Amino acid sequence: MSIMEIGCCGAYCGTCKVLKEQMCNGCKLGYDNKERDLSKAKCRIKVCCISRNYNSCADCPEIEKCQTINEFYGKKGYKYTKYRQATEFIRQNGYEEFIKIADAWKNAYGKYK
Ligand code: SF4
Ligand code: SF4
Repeated sequence: MSIMEIGCCGAYCGTCKVLKEQMCNGCKLGYDNKERDLSKAKCRIKVCCISRNYNSCADCPEIEKCQTINEFYGKKGYKYTKYRQATEFIRQNGYEEFIKIADAWKNAYGKYK
């Protein structure tokens, strides 16, 4: 698994069921080799993050005051809390440590030790 499989918001496409079922193309996959066109992407988080060449919003120095990501993390639903947790984990521990843990998940989010 690779950093390319980490979604901009912290969702992990590498273990996401929806990606495995081929009902989603993943967050960042296919933009680097121009298979997909970022100007057609609907997610504002992704458009902002990829156009700034970040691996995810965890790399962004403006994350704490970013309305786009913080509104997303503030939505109702367990998964949003988990995506925020993933981003915070990456900020503190880096991508390599995140992938070591996330590769054991069965979904786009999961448990930490
Ligand atoms: S919500 Fe947006 S940033 Fe998060 S995985 Fe989906 S497309 Fe990517
Ligand atoms: S400005 Fe917000 S959406 Fe854009 S990369 Fe930074 S945290 Fe992500």
